[in-house]
Amino acid sequence: MIYLVVINPVSGDSNKKSLTYFLQEQAQSKGFDLEIFETTGNNDYEKLKEQVDFVMPDKLLVAGGDGTLLMAAEVVKNKEIPIGLFPLGSANGMAAELDLPSMMPNIPILDQQSFKRAWKIIEDGHSVKVDMVRINGKYSIHLADVGLNAEIVRGFDESDSRGFATYAHQFFQKYTSRKAFNYSVRTNDGRLYSGEAYMLSIANARMFGTGAIINPRGNVSDGTVELCVIKKASALSILKSAGSIITGNVEYDADQVEIISVKKASIELEPAQSFQIDGELQKPVSKVDVSILPSVVEVYCSKEFKDQA
Ligand SMILES: [Mg+2]
Repeated sequence: MIYLVVINPVSGDSNKKSLTYFLQEQAQSKGFDLEIFETTGNNDYEKLKEQVDFVMPDKLLVAGGDGTLLMAAEVVKNKEIPIGLFPLGSANGMAAELDLPSMMPNIPILDQQSFKRAWKIIEDGHSVKVDMVRINGKYSIHLADVGLNAEIVRGFDESDSRGFATYAHQFFQKYTSRKAFNYSVRTNDGRLYSGEAYMLSIANARMFGTGAIINPRGNVSDGTVELCVIKKASALSILKSAGSIITGNVEYDADQVEIISVKKASIELEPAQSFQIDGELQKPVSKVDVSILPSVVEVYCSKEFKDQA
């Protein structure tokens, strides 16, 4: 057995070092081989792909957030290499989606029960096959969108500071200057939708990193992706809602939010809109092609989650 672990070593983060020591100990006591890949922010995708093709690991472990997970998923899609996730990033939306234990970034991980649970899930080996979404030639596993939220991501990106206060500032600034745009959606099975919107999400998952639910119908392994069209400003309150306020059972007013399940669709926007995929800002777009890639990545999860999925 060979485990390859992908670590995003943010400086000053002692938890990543503890994780490496922990895995080295486990490798010795349980008799698997351990290879370590540290991301540098420079050609990580190509380098990881090379390493995976060379090592051919039995399990790919990912210690990081949504960005690192997306990169790893792109590398192992359509390969028989399951991903085990230690959600240690600044945004861990997919971990929440897969009901994986969430860890506290400022407490040593080896002291955390949730870390032990995350490791047990990887050892137990129950997994789900997760869909990815192809969007204008790129990949998404979590959430992409055009309009207001992408504007907030852009503002956050351009800002020098980080953290919730910066996010809140960007939210209110972009919210007050929001403008509706025209959209049209054509699905591969011939449905047509059009109108005015403030935001259109391309959602494999259900919720934002904040826990706010954009796509109550979301299921990362059902072979469809939802286009969630926010047509009324009042519905934008979902963007600032914390997970504790909105739980899974949201009934949207169809007049405010339209949710379109698709396997393939093309979207036109007028004028061009800000655009983000899984938290990564893209160039503004006026045309977006979306298609689902069903069951292309295997991710370890709890037995309970697997049974529901
Ligand atoms: Mg789905």
